[in-house]
Amino acid sequence: MTGMLTIAGLGPGDEGLVTPEVSAALADATDIVGYAPYVGRVAPRAGLVLHPSDNRQELQRATDAMRLAAEGRRVVVVSSGDPGVFAMASAVFEALETSPQWQDVAIRILPGVTAMLAAAARAGAPLGHDFCAINLSDNLKPWPVIEKRLRLAAEADFAIALYNPRSASRPEGFARALDILKEAGCGDRITIFARAVTTADERIEALPLRDARPEMADMRTLVIVGNSATRRIGRWIYAPRRAS
Ligand code: SAH
Repeated sequence: MTGMLTIAGLGPGDEGLVTPEVSAALADATDIVGYAPYVGRVAPRAGLVLHPSDNRQELQRATDAMRLAAEGRRVVVVSSGDPGVFAMASAVFEALETSPQWQDVAIRILPGVTAMLAAAARAGAPLGHDFCAINLSDNLKPWPVIEKRLRLAAEADFAIALYNPRSASRPEGFARALDILKEAGCGDRITIFARAVTTADERIEALPLRDARPEMADMRTLVIVGNSATRRIGRWIYAPRRAS
């Protein structure tokens, strides 16, 4: 049996947003590896071994997946959204760098619909002009780096997608992030809180950044701060395609 390591994105939640190629990879897999809630989204069946694990065990998870693939299994490592966006694809390559004995394992990465795209579609078109994405979790980077990126993104007038707004290890981080953006002159900017997009728990709220409260976000929320030209048209929010 020829092993294969597939790193797949399951999309933001809705079954209809799992791509056909990801569905085919799951149907062909012998093993599913990933954070328990994501593994839980894969239907069990005879011959399929599920390997759920805790959050924050990315490197161990990636190493286990590589070992299984090297043994000839067809392993799918699952992430929510897209596997390359703040997710498992980078962890697999980090594991590969530290364990070069697995260099010959066949690897493929199957994209998925990342949370910011699903959230933007619900709101209208807030990413229609230049934008950036910042992960507010400081598990893997120092907080001053996050502050610097927020300031420069505000100065550059990007729309800003914020992933992991409420880091478990730093619950006050999001309040600080809002303060930094206010200090940088973004108080008027339309800010979208998109929670559990495309699931039964979905909730979308939008308001000027100065009125945003930290408790409006949790770990299932994606926040989009519009650029200075982002506006409303009826129930929709969009970024004009021209910049002045
Ligand atoms: N790889 C994922 C992101 C993982 S980081 C992706 O591409 O979407 C986890 C963060 O993603 C969460 O804290 C939240 O900010 C965001 N997120 C993931 N799914 C979401 C959803 N259905 N609705 C809103 N935000 C979501």
